[in-house]
Amino acid sequence: MYDVIVVGAGYAGAVSARQLADKGKKVLILEKRNHIGGNAFDEPDEHEILIHTYGPHIFHTSSKEVYDFLGKFTEWRLYHHKVVGNVYGKFIPIPFNINSIRLVYNEYKANNLIEKLINEYGRETAIPILQLRANKDEDIRELAEYVYENIFVKYTGKQWGVAPEEIDEAVTARVPVILTEQDGYFTDDYQAMPRDGYTRLFERMLSHPNIEVRLNIDAKDCIKLEGGQIFFECIEFDGDVIYTGMIDELFERCFGALPYRSLRFEFEHYHKESYQPEAVVNYTVDEDFTRITEFKKMTGQQAAGTTIVKEYSLNFEPDTELIPYYAILNDENKALYEKYFNLASRYKNLYLLGRLAEYKYYNMDAITKKALELCERMV
Ligand code: FAD
Ligand code: UDP
Repeated sequence: MYDVIVVGAGYAGAVSARQLADKGKKVLILEKRNHIGGNAFDEPDEHEILIHTYGPHIFHTSSKEVYDFLGKFTEWRLYHHKVVGNVYGKFIPIPFNINSIRLVYNEYKANNLIEKLINEYGRETAIPILQLRANKDEDIRELAEYVYENIFVKYTGKQWGVAPEEIDEAVTARVPVILTEQDGYFTDDYQAMPRDGYTRLFERMLSHPNIEVRLNIDAKDCIKLEGGQIFFECIEFDGDVIYTGMIDELFERCFGALPYRSLRFEFEHYHKESYQPEAVVNYTVDEDFTRITEFKKMTGQQAAGTTIVKEYSLNFEPDTELIPYYAILNDENKALYEKYFNLASRYKNLYLLGRLAEYKYYNMDAITKKALELCERMV
């Protein structure tokens, strides 16, 4: 009856389902939550403020293909996302940039630092903090030390439970020091929010005669893998299966559990127009939470009150209510992932896709691109 079964209705699952449905395939999506959209899901809270239930999601990409593909299901509201760090009560632009340097140092010292940095790296260059710390110049190293101590060490400790040099260097390199006077968290060509929210985007994407979505169904309960054959509801399934859940769970954690970080969100509503200076404030030196997001400032919603969310990071524990949000990328975990990947390769009609199935740190645009590429290969 179905050509393809897709496990998960987040970006990975929904984009592939739509792409395959457009090419004439009959697709069944199994989603264990009671809604589509995965972690990008949004909904109005009890005060009618549109919130992101699983943390702030800002769309940004340099891929026109991805922007145009998703643009078939939403109109965009252009939005240039800015983040500031709360450093002992002072708001400093993050990524740390030329404006941040001027806020931290007196004019003479700031000018000297900026000149040295531009001479060495060039204007508009992005330098990962771990690389900047290795600079030979004493002044530059002093700046790097300031940024490391006041922006990275404590935030990374809260988010990952370890020091910046103990996680994959690509993680802190997501937020490099940038030699620009333009504040902004991202440098991509396209930066926007779906005008009617992410959930609406997903509803439109999945509204297709060839797509059936079943919510509140855990694939664990109806898909079994045995000896190279996939069974769906106890019957051999010879169509394709795109799996976007946790890979270790798919194989009953036979090699041990893959570690993930989870999050706890605390939402608060205030009867005032504005709560904080920017949509996101990172707490880089104090507090137990990592950041506060004020949704209205991201979505552009007009309302008298405002809702914020505080994010606390914690270790993921399998078989609890916790959600695995982030793969913890290091050599040991990547090696464990490989074992599961090799096991999965024995199933010719099984495709692993997404943050959880591939154990990767994908942004929304990157996973959309990956899903489009996979479907291209599959048909
Ligand atoms: P998911 O969204 O996790 O979707 C997987 C789906 O599979 C889920 O709905 C899950 O319930 C379902 N599932 C899992 N196992 C099963 C099972 N056994 N049976 C049935 N269903 C199952 N990206 C950006 O580009 N910009 C941002 O600003 C941004 N902010 C983020 C903030 C936070 C706090 C987090 C955690 C992520 C953020 N991301 C952001 C990344 C973005 O969330 C991911 O790129 C995207 O969600 C990946 O999609 P996915 O389909 O791989 O995973
Ligand atoms: N980071 C930090 N301080 C900041 C912002 C980021 O230490 O103010 C580090 C931290 O380790 C974080 C990583 O850079 O996990 C990537 O940050 P990003 O904002 O991309 O994380 P995400 O939004 O995906 O949680």
